[in-house]
Amino acid sequence: MIKIQDYFSEAQWQKFLSAAVEHETPFLLVDLSLIKQKFEEMVMYFPNAKIHYAMKANPGVPVINLLRDLGSNFDCASIFELDRVFDSGVTPDRVSYGNTIKKAAHIKYAYDKGVRLYATDSKADIQKIAENAPGSRVFVRILVEGGDTAEWPLSRKFGCHPDMAIDLLVNAKKLGLEPYGISFHVGSQQKDIAVWDDALSKVKYMFDWMKYEEDIILKMINMGGGFPANYISEVNPFKVYAEEIIRYLKDDHGDDIPEIILEPGRSLVAGSGVLVSEVVLISRKSRTDLTRWVYSDVGLFQGLIETLGEAIKYPVYTPKMERNNDEGTVILAGPTCDSTDIMYEQSGYKLPQSLAIGDKLYWLTTGAYTNSYSSVEFNGFPPLKTIYIA
Ligand SMILES: *Cc1c(COP(=O)(O)O)cnc(C)c1O
Repeated sequence: MIKIQDYFSEAQWQKFLSAAVEHETPFLLVDLSLIKQKFEEMVMYFPNAKIHYAMKANPGVPVINLLRDLGSNFDCASIFELDRVFDSGVTPDRVSYGNTIKKAAHIKYAYDKGVRLYATDSKADIQKIAENAPGSRVFVRILVEGGDTAEWPLSRKFGCHPDMAIDLLVNAKKLGLEPYGISFHVGSQQKDIAVWDDALSKVKYMFDWMKYEEDIILKMINMGGGFPANYISEVNPFKVYAEEIIRYLKDDHGDDIPEIILEPGRSLVAGSGVLVSEVVLISRKSRTDLTRWVYSDVGLFQGLIETLGEAIKYPVYTPKMERNNDEGTVILAGPTCDSTDIMYEQSGYKLPQSLAIGDKLYWLTTGAYTNSYSSVEFNGFPPLKTIYIA
């Protein structure tokens, strides 16, 4: 059973409910004040880090404007994200181009707009950066472990072996770029803090190698994202992540800790969102079937794509849970005509027997990777509406 007080104060919950009244479901409510709180918490626990918001988690203009005013930097993955932050008046010195996969023309576009910090992980990409963004700072992304303990792992698509990363940094210098640092991402919703330790040891080895063998002083470590949100399963608080990671950094670098960049996406915005949906249909597949199928008006194509493989387990709440205490197993599915549009079948979700068609279902912790992932018009359903409150 999901209890609201595990996620929000009573006052906060009432604030969401009163913002929810006049709209037709489905919609995502995002409380900007919760993002502000989280950002300030991150700054407090990582006072010496620069935060580059991974804006793909929620690229909404109100979020960008809020973080702009709070002094955040931005990690962009495309020129379209770049345009979004520039439209909000963010200056290019606050922006990194963090995607290792980019067209030459897009690098040139970013360079012409003033972006001077680029991620890379391959020889061909460095060549493109050298030609289209001459003299810029580059950081090389390395492959790290962490796929087993991240709920949304990032696989081997990005990053390269540390030995190759060293070659790339040396090559970057030859091409007139500034070999600036090293990045990694331990996988999103990473529950094992120790994976940062392993990643940072690799980074330390590379810093030393570059200094003593190549005479190149690297200046920056970009630790990516991976910090968790509060879904169903328990996670350590952000404070514990920060304390542990800072301890790893001190063990490796003593008092001479390099510039640190963090790229939080999920952990910064997930907790600000509640997705409000409605039960469209409840059915059983046979007369004696114990499991009900509950179809809601949101599904994988309206923003819940991270339930693929039942990877991200959102807390699903209805007030009847607390009133009636009559839960039974359900399969939760979306409204479209695609059979992959089933959120939870194996994970043992339970909802009250008294749940009825038309009841609201509240999907908690849905502020990240929902509106940005929502499809444009599959089956004619519109993209997920987002309502910002402050
Ligand atoms: C998506 C992404 C992030 C954000 O990761 P979270 O786990 O959501 O915090 C950070 N850095 C890069 C390069 C990314 O692609």
